[in-house]
Amino acid sequence: MSVLAIDAGTTGVTAVVVTPDGRIQAKGYQEFRQHFPHPGWVEHSPEEIWQATIEATREVLDKVDRSELTALGITNQRETVVLWDRETLGSPRRAIVWQDRRTADICERLRAEGHEDRVAELTGLRLDPYFSGTKLAWLAEHEPHTWALVESGRYAVGTVDSYLIARMTRGTWHVTDVSNACRTLLFDLEAGDWSDELCGLFGVPRDALPDLVPNWGEVAPTDPRVFLGLELPIAGIAGDQQSALFGQTCFDEGESKCTYGTGSFILTNTGSEVVRSDAGLLSTAAWRSPGGEMTYALEGAIFVTGSAVQWLRDGLQIVGNAAETAAIAATVDDTDGVVFVPALTGLGAPHWDPHARGMIIGITRGTTRAHIVRATLEAIAFEVRDVLETLPELSTLRVDGGAAANDFLCQLQADQVGRAVERPEIVETTALGAAFLAGLGTGAWDSTDDLRETWALDQRFEPGGDRDALDAAYARWSDAVERSKGWDG
Ligand code: ADP
Repeated sequence: MSVLAIDAGTTGVTAVVVTPDGRIQAKGYQEFRQHFPHPGWVEHSPEEIWQATIEATREVLDKVDRSELTALGITNQRETVVLWDRETLGSPRRAIVWQDRRTADICERLRAEGHEDRVAELTGLRLDPYFSGTKLAWLAEHEPHTWALVESGRYAVGTVDSYLIARMTRGTWHVTDVSNACRTLLFDLEAGDWSDELCGLFGVPRDALPDLVPNWGEVAPTDPRVFLGLELPIAGIAGDQQSALFGQTCFDEGESKCTYGTGSFILTNTGSEVVRSDAGLLSTAAWRSPGGEMTYALEGAIFVTGSAVQWLRDGLQIVGNAAETAAIAATVDDTDGVVFVPALTGLGAPHWDPHARGMIIGITRGTTRAHIVRATLEAIAFEVRDVLETLPELSTLRVDGGAAANDFLCQLQADQVGRAVERPEIVETTALGAAFLAGLGTGAWDSTDDLRETWALDQRFEPGGDRDALDAAYARWSDAVERSKGWDG
């Protein structure tokens, strides 16, 4: 008995098979293309996401006994909007990705019209291009022919999870869950449902949106004709960060995690209450049980962390792969005054400036590749510290995600925040969370207590270093962040 989980992330799709002891038995991965049609725009081809899902799943199926599989869990990049034809399942245009900044002007217009407070009150979010609502408003304004077919009911509007479920069920199901829905700006957080008022404000027909289902429990079977011969109940759904919170077994109020992937996301479980922050954190749904009980979280969403490392590799081409950044950074004692603010797609929590742009400052004749690489890893730790400064009660930080494999980064993080950093054996916590949800939904695990027992520590990084020097470096970072703001308008 084991569970298949698909993590449709921002850079690629991971498929894992998880055994009842909570271990990852096998893994498949397929990267997909990033499309940058204009500066600040980021798009994905839905078809390419679907093909990557098929390839990653095929790879994992080759390594396991498929007759052992009992359920499928899905987790996904959030906020990204996908349109597809309900009949053909083809998409009329590429998906607009969460990182895309094209709607900064729409956000400002809505703010000038006085909508921000009401939107924040209903959604727990803010008017930022990050979220789906203004991306949909942009489509309605700029692509009216496409939008007319949304309004006529021919095109479905969805999140990446709902798109994949539509593909896997040959268009029979159009569903999502609260952890995805609450990132759209169209969802009433306290009511736990789509909001007619918000749909009206952003001009989105409510009928085009997916129906809401609980985060665990059987939803629908996959259609073997389109999904590699697999007929498995889809029984767990969650947006990637909430899935990671679940995968880290942060089931109780006050438990927190930080995921280092493309961006970094710190989530704290706030239990059955919506807790609001005046320090730049978002209020968000964590999950909803089959009985209808909501769990909420506070979230610090940082847009660019691991993807700054990716940019060193693909953009600057000064490293061959992400993993070698640890060794390169360790060849120098410090950055020699270099600070990198990776505001490559604006700044998220806690600064929220879509007009900020990336900046490397403090370069001298003596600056080397190692200084820039080290400044990149330091930037990740500083960005996370910026968020943690707003969550003072945290004692230990549980970390996960692709970049949490970097020991140098984990140690820097512990030193910077002065708290221990705990890395579990499994850092693919996002996929693990989706497997946990699907397994909980189908009886592979009876309770969250069973899941908690599977959590195992890999390494604990104790805080150290010279406090004054660490704080001085952080102060220099804060100064640089201010200088990066408002660059693009
Ligand atoms: P996502 O789910 O957002 O696609 P992952 O959790 O798979 O992301 O993590 C991938 C990201 O982590 C990439 O941006 C990559 O550059 C970064 N990364 C992966 N390994 C390392 C490493 N050893 N050190 C630093 N960054 C890394």
